[in-house]
Amino acid sequence: MVWQVDLKGKTIVVTGGNRGIGLAISEQVAQAGAHVAIIYRSSKDAPEVAKKISEKYGVHCEAYQANVADQQAITDLFKKIYFDVGPIGGVVCNAGINYKKDALEYTKEDFDNHFGPNVWGVFTCAQAAQRLWKEHDYKNGRIVFVSSVSGTIANKGEVQAFYNPTKVNVLSPGYVLTDMNSNLRDDKGLREKVASDVMLNRISEPYEQAGTVVFFLSDYASCE
Ligand code: NDP
Repeated sequence: MVWQVDLKGKTIVVTGGNRGIGLAISEQVAQAGAHVAIIYRSSKDAPEVAKKISEKYGVHCEAYQANVADQQAITDLFKKIYFDVGPIGGVVCNAGINYKKDALEYTKEDFDNHFGPNVWGVFTCAQAAQRLWKEHDYKNGRIVFVSSVSGTIANKGEVQAFYNPTKVNVLSPGYVLTDMNSNLRDDKGLREKVASDVMLNRISEPYEQAGTVVFFLSDYASCE
């Protein structure tokens, strides 16, 4: 089957869409013709990243700074995006955090740092979108969650016990070469060891994850 994803006329919100897997998703969503609203936490270059996407693909792409774990900020921001950029057709809940630390050293702050964006932050975005869709009687909205293989298989010997339970569903990338795994870029031996556990014998790139998300957002993934 030959198919061409067309997201023209939609506005897609991509949380963490300014770098890593999220950036690849933003680019491919824009390439498919949708306007993109990127939500980022603190990266100073996010507005410039959005501007480049706008120029490259001829769509409206804008970066909005907000913490996905701040429910009120996200509710207000979704309304702003809806009126500034256009009716939201889909949301990609991609923003996430993971840092390695011995589980015996974890504090409540470490718990909040993981569960805030990875679980609560996913809920706040899904809720904000659903509220808008209900208010505007929009029935075709899509929400895509970026999970992880760590949601089902705890990585052997890794110290990320708070990360595993925050990842529960849908797109489940294995290792992807982004800033989150900068240690893999720097350490060839570790990279080869990790790759040997992967069926393709290599670590994937963000764009390889993004294509699946774009498909989920399209009418080809319709369940009506
Ligand atoms: P990166 O660390 O490269 O980027 C994280 C992104 O999330 C950044 O854009 C960051 O914004 C944003 N972000 C983090 N916390 C918040 C917050 N509280 N509010 C708003 N934005 C936030 O991550 P990856 O691209 O590697 O990962 C993306 C998703 O894929 C994550 O959910 C991750 O768990 C999942 N994943 C990643 C894998 C991998 O190997 N990389 C494997 C499996 C799943 P800012 O730039 O402003 O900091």
